Amino acid sequence: MRTWTPIKLVGKTLRVDLDKERIEITDEGAKAYENFLGGKGLNQYFLYNGVKPDVEPFNPSNLLIVGAGLLTGTLIPGATRTNFDTKNVFNGGVGSANVGGDFGPELKFAGFGNVIIKGRAEKPVYLWIKDDSAEIRDAGKIWGKGTSHTTEWIREDLGEEDVQIASIGPAGENLVRGACIMVNGTRAAAKCGVGAVAGSKNLKAIAVKGSKAVEVAEPERFIELAKRAWKKIRFSRTAKIIREGRTFSTLEAKNAICNMPQRNFQDGHMDPEKIKMVNSQAFAKYELSKFACFSCPVWCRAYYRVEEGPYAGTEGEAVEMNSIADFASKLDIPYAPAVIKAHLICNDYGMDIDAAAGAIAWAFEAYEKGAITKEEADGLELKWGAHEVLMSLLKKMAYREGFGDLLAEGSYRASRKIGNGSEEYAITMKRQDLYEEVRVPKGWALGVALSTRGGGHCSGAPLVEREKFPSGVAKKIYGVKTTTDPTTYNGKAKLVVFHERFHNVLHSTGICFYTSAWVYPDWLNQEDIAGLVSAATGIEITPEGLLRIGERIHNLERAFNILHAGFGREDDYLPERFFEEPIKSGPYKGEKLDRKKFDEMLDENYRMHGWDERGIPTRETLNNLGLEYVAKDLELAGIIL
Ligand code: SF4
Repeated sequence: MRTWTPIKLVGKTLRVDLDKERIEITDEGAKAYENFLGGKGLNQYFLYNGVKPDVEPFNPSNLLIVGAGLLTGTLIPGATRTNFDTKNVFNGGVGSANVGGDFGPELKFAGFGNVIIKGRAEKPVYLWIKDDSAEIRDAGKIWGKGTSHTTEWIREDLGEEDVQIASIGPAGENLVRGACIMVNGTRAAAKCGVGAVAGSKNLKAIAVKGSKAVEVAEPERFIELAKRAWKKIRFSRTAKIIREGRTFSTLEAKNAICNMPQRNFQDGHMDPEKIKMVNSQAFAKYELSKFACFSCPVWCRAYYRVEEGPYAGTEGEAVEMNSIADFASKLDIPYAPAVIKAHLICNDYGMDIDAAAGAIAWAFEAYEKGAITKEEADGLELKWGAHEVLMSLLKKMAYREGFGDLLAEGSYRASRKIGNGSEEYAITMKRQDLYEEVRVPKGWALGVALSTRGGGHCSGAPLVEREKFPSGVAKKIYGVKTTTDPTTYNGKAKLVVFHERFHNVLHSTGICFYTSAWVYPDWLNQEDIAGLVSAATGIEITPEGLLRIGERIHNLERAFNILHAGFGREDDYLPERFFEEPIKSGPYKGEKLDRKKFDEMLDENYRMHGWDERGIPTRETLNNLGLEYVAKDLELAGIIL
């Protein structure tokens, strides 16, 4: 007779102590999954309970936690995501980065859902996980190497072909704050300096291979629901558009609502002639093949090769909407081969493209305004559009050479060191460089401002504002009719509250944003996911119950930020530029954020979460979410009565 237990779905928890070279396997994840699902939710639960507020991000006592989503490794479209969580190296608060590729499913096939790493190895090591077991191995020969070489070397070292590898490059080793963790050298867990934390632990990589099945409680029901999900996504018009044009198929729509960070956010609109040089059609010329992550019908990934010009011979998996916004718009380099090259350099160094472009854009503007001299910039002319300078600065950042050492700190710290008024050009949220232009779509602005990890559009920002769905459809899924009017403030606080909870559900079940209702209302929404989670776990959960878990995770993160980083309401405001300097060109010329209306959105968002006017969760709110221990911590810290 078949017996199902949650651990067959959630996976075991692997605890690794690099100081003591000790490995322990537990069932902690399976005990807590009902309240936190998996992926980010469980990671944040382990982080909150495992790291004290006075521990600095690079202290060996900080934890680096890997978590495959609850449904990662199953047949659901896009159930492939993995989360890396730790203390944020920019601000000491929540650090969280999510990645696709096949690492998460493989971790599940090896029998694990979460890996909790503490301590610091004496010398460079990598962790090898295979079917219910793990060992720490020497990585001395690959310290200093890029993520591509590291991936190949580890496969050879193990004598195994289909091993999934999450590794850091020189940026992580050199504690560059924007260092990320790369899966197989191509997909980035990009934010909050998770790669730098791995570097601080002398952890070069985690390699994983498994041969076990991920089992669900009610297989027949689950398969039926998964089939339905595949059917509605695979043959849809939206999937076709993304498959053909990739994640930047909506570049023109994004530009139409002035959502581009042109020249370090000095404008929000890009010249349409420049857009033509970096849109889907422009990149199609260099595209060799398309492919997808594990169990995904969307196929948003692609491999490129440049045949001519200064970057001839450049090839690899590259280019997302972010690469175009970061390099083509933020640095004003509308040259597709340079965008491909810069993206691939960052991948190999293990450096977040948003963090790299953010720091460099700050330097370009500071140079333009006379706050940085050519001598200070190692003799380089920091001019908009200078792609050769960009390539040089990326290397300097990753290796912390000369001026790159300053940029490696991110624009917030770099500007405080340089001074000369350059602080004004550091466009950051919670001290982390910002990717998102925010003056036109107000819900997007609020979501980015409130993101627990410091900017980013994956913790509450709605994408739907740039779409033209009928208001009835929008109301049914997102609970708000006014979603499709980007400039209205009306209803946007509620829209963001929904997305804050929904995004946590996605990050914790392991479902890709690009197969979810974040992209299109009929794709995997809260009703679909509630059905799938119910069938997978054998415990009935409603859409409201599912969003309630998202709310619990959100409150836990908010409390972590308050206790660890001292964040409060003042840290939920976007940079001055967005309130003071209007969009300079394009259809929304003259638009900026209205401080009073932004404040009202903030108040409404706090109220809907059950937080006080300072943005602190009340005891009642926390108790209702089963977070009594968090309320106690806030009380002991003198923050609530
Ligand atoms: S939509 Fe793209 S990133 Fe998401 S799972 Fe599919 S291929 Fe991967």
